[in-house]
Amino acid sequence: MKPSLPQNDPNAQQRSDYINQQRQAYHFDYDFLSPLALSKELPAIENLSVDYIAERLLATAELPVNMLAVKARSFLDPLDDLQDYEDFFPVLPLPAIAKTYQTDRAFAEQRLSGANPMVLRLLDPADPRAQILAQLPSFKFFNLPKELQENNIYIADYTGTDPSYLGPSKVQGGTYEKGRKYLPKPRAFFHWRWTGIRDRGEMVPLAIQLDTNRESHVYTPSDPPLDWLFAKLCVQVADANHHEMCSHLALTHLVMEPFAIVTARQLAENHPLSLLLRPHFRFMLANSHLARARLINPGGPVDGLLAGSLAESLELARDAYTNWSLDGFSFPAELKNRGMDDVNQLPHYPYRDDGLLLWNAIHTFVTGFINYFYPTNDVIAEDIELQSWAAELASEKGGRVKGMPAQIDTAQQLIEIVTTVIFTCGPQHSAVNYPQDYYMSFAANMPLAAYRDIPAAEEAIGEAYILKMLPPHQRAAEQLQILFTLSAYHYDRLGYYDKSYQELYNKCFKEVFEGGPIEILVQQFQQELNIAEQKIDANNKKRVIPYISLKPSLVLNSISI
Ligand code: MN
Repeated sequence: MKPSLPQNDPNAQQRSDYINQQRQAYHFDYDFLSPLALSKELPAIENLSVDYIAERLLATAELPVNMLAVKARSFLDPLDDLQDYEDFFPVLPLPAIAKTYQTDRAFAEQRLSGANPMVLRLLDPADPRAQILAQLPSFKFFNLPKELQENNIYIADYTGTDPSYLGPSKVQGGTYEKGRKYLPKPRAFFHWRWTGIRDRGEMVPLAIQLDTNRESHVYTPSDPPLDWLFAKLCVQVADANHHEMCSHLALTHLVMEPFAIVTARQLAENHPLSLLLRPHFRFMLANSHLARARLINPGGPVDGLLAGSLAESLELARDAYTNWSLDGFSFPAELKNRGMDDVNQLPHYPYRDDGLLLWNAIHTFVTGFINYFYPTNDVIAEDIELQSWAAELASEKGGRVKGMPAQIDTAQQLIEIVTTVIFTCGPQHSAVNYPQDYYMSFAANMPLAAYRDIPAAEEAIGEAYILKMLPPHQRAAEQLQILFTLSAYHYDRLGYYDKSYQELYNKCFKEVFEGGPIEILVQQFQQELNIAEQKIDANNKKRVIPYISLKPSLVLNSISI
């Protein structure tokens, strides 16, 4: 079979037979998490392959041994100081964050290169939230109006003030066998402190407001160390819940699902856009069905380990989905929205700097690919499959994708859409998926829930209080187990298509990649990605904490895990 647009294909009948068949096999489900458009059934070709299953099992082989050793120790050794959280890794390597997570540097750096680098934003000088800082006595040697005016103050706000963050009244907290769970909804303020040497500086935390409903203490680094650590851990709990439900589940897995469904339903197997996109959807629907059965099911890990009840946690995902749009979440637009796009204003933001290298590589590749198959806009207008694809993605009765045009008029428009889709399935998902291991499997750094409420102002916080707030033994063990499982395996690698092609097509599209202009485009894409890898390695030599989540060799093509 040769790649072909519908208007040029001599086998029109074969094409429409295939599409009719596909429409019988793929349907939308709007009921599971209304109004989201998810996939109803899982066609056989979408199932995890034998290779995938075998390789993934192998990648987690050490986990059962590790957990047995943890269980054996737990009888002798209850959690009675913070150090004990390191004991959950008798066999698996202890994540590096375990040795630094209590420091302000590691705390601030996680906003820029951690598991969830998508919350921090620039604080506008006129924003009323700046007043919280103005009242703090410890700021008398710090020129707040000047720092605000010069755009050096940032905020991570989990109260629901910023769009799609944790709503103030939405999560009351779930329960577990021994009582209640809590979700702190703090505001954390940060300062980009210039060191005076050219473009050098450092992000430092300034203050944390734990409770915005009542007059309560605003914590700062001048508080007793354990009080300040407690406040930082409350931010980490909020960030962990935002990460899993919003940044990870909603803004990668859920928003991309309609694209996999509509591509299968509207484009012939040999449609160039289908050939380009399907490797980027490989195993996405299988994972989505698995997640519904085993992650967000009643009694499952989200229900058991996250702070909210299952319904409350899913509400957070629904909220994030509702605030998402395809155009608003192209990588450059999303950075600009948070005021995080200016390199002169904020010279250190690894997620942005490494992400842009990958965005640009994908954009160049997609531009070459689309321009090759669509030399003029007339060719786009005549492509009835492409037009049905766009119409169904945008439709209320289809993918319900916000920001998706119902009609494609220009190659440029298609390039922007396809670049955002590939970036979201590849780099964006990998950037939030794999740090589940490096940053979140160690429960004391990013606890998935708080097991004690924010204290009354007069209550003293000591290590015992912090230990009661952190996940108890069994919960910490389960957190490690699930988050390690979700980030131990890499099916493929961004820009390398052999594996998914072989599994999808049994080589029937050999000519797409062997000889000819498309093979050259793919090779150039791979070269660009390898250059990006070298730049990231060089950048990491200058970074106090290396950022590996967007190294192209560790980024997948698809949301396959
Ligand atoms: Mn994932």
